[in-house]
Amino acid sequence: MKISSMNWMQVEDYLKGKDICVIPVGSTEQHAYLSLATDSILAERIAEESADPLGIAVFPVMPYGMTPDFMAYPGTVSLRHDTLAGVFTDILDSLYHHGFRKIFIVNGHGGNMPLEKTVNEWSAANSGSRVCFYNWWREPKTWAKVCEKDPVGSHASWMENFLWTRLEGVNMPEESKPMIDLKKLRGITPAQARELMGDGNWGGEYQKTDDVMTEVWNAAVEEAREVLREFSEQ
Ligand SMILES: [Zn+2]
Repeated sequence: MKISSMNWMQVEDYLKGKDICVIPVGSTEQHAYLSLATDSILAERIAEESADPLGIAVFPVMPYGMTPDFMAYPGTVSLRHDTLAGVFTDILDSLYHHGFRKIFIVNGHGGNMPLEKTVNEWSAANSGSRVCFYNWWREPKTWAKVCEKDPVGSHASWMENFLWTRLEGVNMPEESKPMIDLKKLRGITPAQARELMGDGNWGGEYQKTDDVMTEVWNAAVEEAREVLREFSEQ
């Protein structure tokens, strides 16, 4: 149930029976050969596919996040922590104002994880509200499925390469890239980070078969739906 496919009267009706909604958050940043919108596409799709059978409303994805390390890659947009925290505080205030009390945030980008503290603080300050911050790719069953297929994978590798994040006419390298040493990312400039990361894949193969990716995807959607269902019933 996408908010973008509803009008306000329908939302008013929805709120008579439910006070839960989902809001995805992604990032616009380099993903090697994949779409710059990869994290947003995946977060929004996980949100929609998990919430749909439960009849839960999903707000449009917030397409920008915190990604200072990738600023030497054209097309990357990075928000400051204060900005993202401010945006989410305003979003949560608005949702609360309309009667939403349970808010499930589907995050698709590791750099956004500090946002969890902000939304938890917000929840503690707004009585009757509950916020669940869900990092879809890191959840145990999803991560186990990824590792079962190939434990070597990370940012912009095969594990983010789905039919809906790859680009037409762009061919993937066939080799597997050795994992970059993430410790070296500490204390360096974006230009140095680009030098270290090269094409932007942090390591692993670039692409797997559609069958493998369908399995990973289904595991991720199922797990997100399970957690969302529990959250809605609590
Ligand atoms: Zn990503």
